[in-house]
Amino acid sequence: MSIDVAAIRKDFPLLARTVNGKPIVYLDNAATSQKPQCVIDALCQFYQASNANVHRGIYALSEEATLLYETSREKVARFIGAPSPRSTVYTRNTTEAINLVSHAWGRLNLKAGDEVLITEMEHHSNIVPWLLLCQETGATLRSLPVTEDGLLDLSELDSLLTERTRLFAVTQMSNVLGTINPVRELVAKAHAVGALALVDGAQSVPHLEVDVKEMGCDFFAFSAHKMLGPTGIGVLYAREELLEKMGPFLGGGEMISEVYLDHATWKDIPWKYEAGTPNFADAVAFGVAIDYLEKIGMKAVRQHEKELTAYALRVLENVGGVKVFGPPDAVRRGGVVSFWMEGVHPHDLAQVLDTEGVCIRAGHHCAQPLMRRLRVPATARASFYLYNTRDEIDVLVGGLKKATELFGHVPG
Ligand code: PLP
Repeated sequence: MSIDVAAIRKDFPLLARTVNGKPIVYLDNAATSQKPQCVIDALCQFYQASNANVHRGIYALSEEATLLYETSREKVARFIGAPSPRSTVYTRNTTEAINLVSHAWGRLNLKAGDEVLITEMEHHSNIVPWLLLCQETGATLRSLPVTEDGLLDLSELDSLLTERTRLFAVTQMSNVLGTINPVRELVAKAHAVGALALVDGAQSVPHLEVDVKEMGCDFFAFSAHKMLGPTGIGVLYAREELLEKMGPFLGGGEMISEVYLDHATWKDIPWKYEAGTPNFADAVAFGVAIDYLEKIGMKAVRQHEKELTAYALRVLENVGGVKVFGPPDAVRRGGVVSFWMEGVHPHDLAQVLDTEGVCIRAGHHCAQPLMRRLRVPATARASFYLYNTRDEIDVLVGGLKKATELFGHVPG
């Protein structure tokens, strides 16, 4: 099940460039991924040959654009195991998908006394919409803690997930710790108390095989740009019955059936949630990114990243002063490795690594509550994808050693 990384790398033109005179080592895939030439070409080709607004024109070019847009939706739905494209709404990104739920479902269904449960390892996108919703409705936001090992503390679940809980919103994979959460079990637990379950798939869909039907979740959100696709396009999957019942999110053109000056009726799902001219060009290129991933196979992608992560955990252990956060093995985590280097602030570390051509992320990773739990202001984070290699991890380690020499290792 191994993949031909050398051949894959040739598909990604950006990986051939240099940074600061060094070959680029791109290890910031949790922030956004690079794009294969076929995705870049698909975007150009769409504008060169098929560009017209969708769902509007009664002419061949518009019908062709509409067909490309809707075919891409079918690919997206199939890729995540959704029962139908009707359950798959295009958004700008994961953030907008979660906000869609907090507005269109939350404002109809939450009241004072109700609770929303999240976890301490959530990205701000899966915290702030619920904070706002709770402030507005008088509901209470609760949070499941994280253990020292970077896992969800499931011993607290039964006391936090109760008949007062209306929604459990949890990430499938942490963007800081790499932790892969047992979402199927968590969704079942939520349903057992009568709550709905929203799963943040921003970090999981690009790297793992995902099947929303098997997972049983009610809502699932992710972004194309982290999975070889373009920026500005994301997805909300929701059970059809919920999409039917929920109100619209944004109002405007193309989400309506009929408009009068005193009332309006809505289009069928999923279009009821796609107000205005949608991002059809990027949606079409997103479909091509999915074709690319499917050709390689998500099992193979996961296997490659598991091997890289196991290697990274092993070599980082031998770098003096480095503390890695999250599960100690590569089985319960994806290809995201956050660490702290004694005596070197993550921002300084990222700058030193940049001189070696290595791109990592340094900061709070939009997860400030988790930073407080880890008792650090920030971490350095290397995150891998299908085109990364062991050699690149060796370059990272070389850069860390250089940083130690520059800043001096202060034993902790
Ligand atoms: N959730 C997680 C776990 C993430 O890692 C991210 C982005 O890093 C998001 C949500 C937000 O994604 P976007 O910025 O594409 O909306």
